[in-house]
Amino acid sequence: MAGHEDPETGLVNVMHWMYARGLVQVRGGNASIVNRGRGVVYITPTGVPRPLITRGDIALISLEDGSVIRGSPSSEWRMHLAIYRRVEEALSIVHAHPPYTIAADLAGAKLDPKILAEASYTIKCIATIPQLTPGTWELANTVAETLEETNCNAAVLKGHGAVAYSDKTIYHALEAIEALEELAKITIIATNKGTDGWRV
Ligand code: 13P
Ligand code: ZN
Repeated sequence: MAGHEDPETGLVNVMHWMYARGLVQVRGGNASIVNRGRGVVYITPTGVPRPLITRGDIALISLEDGSVIRGSPSSEWRMHLAIYRRVEEALSIVHAHPPYTIAADLAGAKLDPKILAEASYTIKCIATIPQLTPGTWELANTVAETLEETNCNAAVLKGHGAVAYSDKTIYHALEAIEALEELAKITIIATNKGTDGWRV
């Protein structure tokens, strides 16, 4: 059953589907699943073209200090680790580059999960993170601290993308990312109506 298979299969599925859905580019985005009992994080590999990722590419790092146990982890391992360490309920994380979400944020649109049913079910609230260099501790710590303080399970990273966590399976974290992108798309369409009709 989906979500009950091994972590590698879930992570491969999520990366293939996100690429097919246009939620990441060929080398964009990453995903992870924590096993708190064993103190390890399964995380997607850095740089591998998303449609080509296989189970053997999935890396394993220590939850305590990020040291590599197996493979070549995503360059955003710090962000994944910082979220798991600060947000106790987080069990899975998806980072994507969804274009409507990035555009809506840059345009200053208000993204309110309550206006869309699927978003209201999957997103508690959406935090916003300033533009920070990908892969840095500055980005990692800012995202983790903000999610902890706001109690939001999703965040928009200005000029970069989005991240969402779930207290359930990796597919639930993906669902939050998909809902965020749908919300951004619908918000942009709905607010693109001029006084004399749709500007499309
Ligand atoms: P990785 O291939 O290292 O996971 O990087 C992709 C990305 O989205 C960086 O922000
Ligand atoms: Zn990214």
